[in-house]
Amino acid sequence: MQDEERVITTGFRDGEDAAEQSLRPHSLAEYFGQEKLKNSLTVYMQAAIARREPLDHILLYGPPGLGKTTLAGIIAAEMGHNIRVTSGPAIERAGDLASILTNLNAGDVLFIDEIHRLSHQVEEVLYPAMEDYALDIMIGKGPSARSIRLDLPKFTLIGATTRAGMLTSPLRDRFGISFRLELYTPEQLAVIVRRSAQILKIDCDPDGALEIASRSRGTPRIANRLIRRVRDFAEVRGDGHITVDIAREALDMLEVDELGLDHTDRTMLRTMMEKFGGGPVGLDTLAASTGEDASTIEDVYEPYLLQLGFLMRTPRGRVCTQAAYDHMGVKMPRRDDAGDSGQTKMEF
Ligand code: ADP
Repeated sequence: MQDEERVITTGFRDGEDAAEQSLRPHSLAEYFGQEKLKNSLTVYMQAAIARREPLDHILLYGPPGLGKTTLAGIIAAEMGHNIRVTSGPAIERAGDLASILTNLNAGDVLFIDEIHRLSHQVEEVLYPAMEDYALDIMIGKGPSARSIRLDLPKFTLIGATTRAGMLTSPLRDRFGISFRLELYTPEQLAVIVRRSAQILKIDCDPDGALEIASRSRGTPRIANRLIRRVRDFAEVRGDGHITVDIAREALDMLEVDELGLDHTDRTMLRTMMEKFGGGPVGLDTLAASTGEDASTIEDVYEPYLLQLGFLMRTPRGRVCTQAAYDHMGVKMPRRDDAGDSGQTKMEF
């Protein structure tokens, strides 16, 4: 299934940018969950403010839709400065980055989403900018070429990535602070759903909110999307009020099961069980046999399936666990202990 068709996709869809904007928290107090991160961040921000220095560069990593962009906006607001938002693929040439950097004011936050996708040439410009707040510019060509150094305002770079391991180590080393965002618990997400319901003027029971939250794969962006879909259902089938029964009915209709797995997750698990005896299966093989992108599997599906304990990562590939078999209602095959071939015997 293509991403556009997925209800629980974590990417932006047309027309949803504006809706997302209206739901974005603007202060740390409104930003629920991620308590450890918020505690450390508060200390770093207070220290920087007391020293009248810009905040150290921050790397935020974790699956899409967990609140990295939102947090960057909040940091800029709490520090009392502006934020400039861009992304790795959008900065094509070194000159593009140079012009962004020279237009910053002291204390501003530069947010680069998908920072692992910066080209090597662009990264080279970023190193002195991060380390010394300087821009090295080459003037002329050939033997007469020389480099001059321009001072930049003292800014804070906030980089976001789905996986910290995809960053080159020189870039990773230049971030003074790095935070991993965790998937949210259903209870935390229920608070976010109730807040969104209030903003969108949706009438939603606490139990209905918890039902939506439990099926949102630990991800606020998905929770915010599902509440709007459930509202549609509640308006058409009832009086617009979201109860737990309405939420269940709507989400069942959307093929989002009680754990938040959708058609694509189930296809992936079923493929692993039926074609590969539950694994181990290599990522590329899994991608080829499900028609999904390997990086989408790693960024979007896998973190939640790992968190549920449905998948294990082994050096030889991904393996389905007993819990995954139980959820899918498939009998787990007996492992062939004799060999190291990864083959399993199916029992019927
Ligand atoms: P990311 O940059 O990690 O992909 P975003 O920052 O764009 O994620 O967050 C997606 C949406 O989820 C935002 O529109 C925001 O409304 C909501 N959201 C994310 N984190 C939180 C949070 N901690 N509390 C409330 N809402 C959140």
